Amino acid sequence: MGTPLEPREAQVEEVLERLYEEYPDSTISLKYSNRLELLIAVILSAQCTDERVNTVCSDLFETYETPEEYANAPQEELAEAINSITYYNNKAKYIRSACADIAEEHDGEVPDTMSELTDLAGVGRKTANVVLQHGHDVVEGIVVDTHVQRLTRRLEITEEERPEAIEEDLLGIVPEKDWQQFTHLMIDHGRATCTAINPDCADCVLADVCPSAKPDADVDLASGEEW
Ligand code: SF4
Repeated sequence: MGTPLEPREAQVEEVLERLYEEYPDSTISLKYSNRLELLIAVILSAQCTDERVNTVCSDLFETYETPEEYANAPQEELAEAINSITYYNNKAKYIRSACADIAEEHDGEVPDTMSELTDLAGVGRKTANVVLQHGHDVVEGIVVDTHVQRLTRRLEITEEERPEAIEEDLLGIVPEKDWQQFTHLMIDHGRATCTAINPDCADCVLADVCPSAKPDADVDLASGEEW
């Protein structure tokens, strides 16, 4: 079992330093070539792998190009085009509705503020943060997905449980210059080593500062349950 550094700012700094070294090219893994494609890809990626989203989007982005084309697509047709994605019926509805708003209220442009983005169907704070960061170069938050949620708790960077509360907590202890990369580094480490089931603690660069490190730790701090 590792010992986290105190205060939490020092733990964050140490974790970041090691993960920057481990994943020097860490970045978003969704593929897109403009803001609308980015928005669509992020909506589709909720509870679905980026790999599958990229596969589906390579055809989708050839079929539909403008907000009007998505908004005017029949529900069944759009749902069919994304039917290998989780919750494809709901996501098709969100995309048609969001694109109708973009066409009618935003001159066909994906909005660049948190409040306008989160007013769109299917767009919560997490999706809006990704679109702001990668579509508009505006970093005003930290994207908290399932990997960030799990790793920050395992590493005792936060004790919060809900993504919104975790984000608020992190904003106070992660240096602003690292807000964007913090997410990508956590995602890369969550995929490569600190997986949800059976994390590879024996081969983890954070083991000596991680209070959840197996086999010494009894409890996975992400879930609060025994390993
Ligand atoms: S892989 Fe193990 S040691 Fe590494 S961060 Fe995850 S729980 Fe901690």
